[in-house]
Amino acid sequence: MTHIYAVKGNIVDMDTEAIVNAANTSLLGGSGVDGAIHRAAGPELLAECRTLNGCPTGQAKITKGYRLNAKYVIHTPGPIWRGGKKNEPELLAGCYRNSLKLAVENGVKSIAFPAISTGVYGYPLREATEIAVKTVVDFANVDKSVERIVFVCFDTATLRLYEDVLSHYIEG
Ligand code: ADP
Repeated sequence: MTHIYAVKGNIVDMDTEAIVNAANTSLLGGSGVDGAIHRAAGPELLAECRTLNGCPTGQAKITKGYRLNAKYVIHTPGPIWRGGKKNEPELLAGCYRNSLKLAVENGVKSIAFPAISTGVYGYPLREATEIAVKTVVDFANVDKSVERIVFVCFDTATLRLYEDVLSHYIEG
């Protein structure tokens, strides 16, 4: 069974085999999670990202982790919130689903996700959290090859929300 849980912390400190980057479509770095990951991984990460020719919103691409603890970084551009009628929910679900697919294809057994789109991209936190948890739980019910999936929350309020939403899906 896949262990799915939330922790408070910084995505760059995670001990998982892969960490997910809340990237932008250029894959050339940005603020928030993206900036923290590039700073911690070192310039080799940007060099590899330059070879990828960007990534569409809701899709995902994988690189090495360089100076990170994580062996891989999975880069996924979340949707920018534009009121909710521009396919944002499906695009956000795609970020989680496509990141997990890439993880499986690369034999990754543990992965950490940030709260994609809830920073500068402005996605309402509760809606985004419900999509994140539902999409990950649904995936893990079908494909059990990832053993550990961690939601990394930057603050206590986000952690409480994830724990609340997770409690509706997962016993104990
Ligand atoms: P986006 O552009 O997809 O909105 P951001 O990086 O701006 O992405 O923010 C996504 C979420 O990650 C926000 O909730 C933000 O508080 C949180 N966050 C920012 N930096 C980190 C970090 N180093 N580790 C984990 N979470 C972070």
